[in-house]
Amino acid sequence: KIPVIAIDGPTASGKGTVAHQVALRLGFHYLDSGALYRLTALSAIRKGVDPVDEHGLAKAAAALHCHFNGEHVFLSNDDVTAAIRAEAVGNFASRIATLPTVRQALYALQLGFRVPPGLVADGRDMGTVIFPRATLKVFLTASADARAARRYKQLIGKGISATMHDLLKDLNERDARDANRAIAPLKPAEDAYMLETSDMTAEAAINQVLAWYAAIRKR
Ligand code: C5P
Repeated sequence: KIPVIAIDGPTASGKGTVAHQVALRLGFHYLDSGALYRLTALSAIRKGVDPVDEHGLAKAAAALHCHFNGEHVFLSNDDVTAAIRAEAVGNFASRIATLPTVRQALYALQLGFRVPPGLVADGRDMGTVIFPRATLKVFLTASADARAARRYKQLIGKGISATMHDLLKDLNERDARDANRAIAPLKPAEDAYMLETSDMTAEAAINQVLAWYAAIRKR
């Protein structure tokens, strides 16, 4: 059985950093499922698909030609690593993620990432919908203030200007959309280990996940 570690949580909860590092240390593959929603959004934007054209958006998702190479993400053969991180793309992604047809179109693609020796998958519904039988499920939380502060540091580090006020507003809107949508709402799986990271370093969170995984493997 190919092990899967599912790491879910809200925007800027630190999932990406934790999941990526856990994957590196275990020598596992890594799935950034949010990137698939962002790629679908970017592809739809580039094709001029109307944001309310559910059928067109689902088609864009089903026809997604993407691949990952280390830290780089490609749409067809175009390196879109930076482009998919734009706020506008994230926002569009968060909106189309509420559409069942889009989620359905990305379902099989996500399952395909489960290959030996194992997978660490991060997102909103890895433990609840995509990999309900995951070896280990972790749900990361952090206060809105802590998450906005992290996002602020990231953006300023990249030379992008931002205000805490706008970031908090955006985080809260995205959280509400993710938690309240009818399909695959953001919530911990019943058997998820909860990790509150507001006052935790990334290193401590990574080590906690690795320790939980080691304990489960020993059983
Ligand atoms: O995690 P990230 O911010 O890159 O994801 C972009 C958007 O995709 C999120 O705001 C969320 O609405 C959506 N998403 C999702 N399910 C996932 C991963 C991301 O609905 N598994």
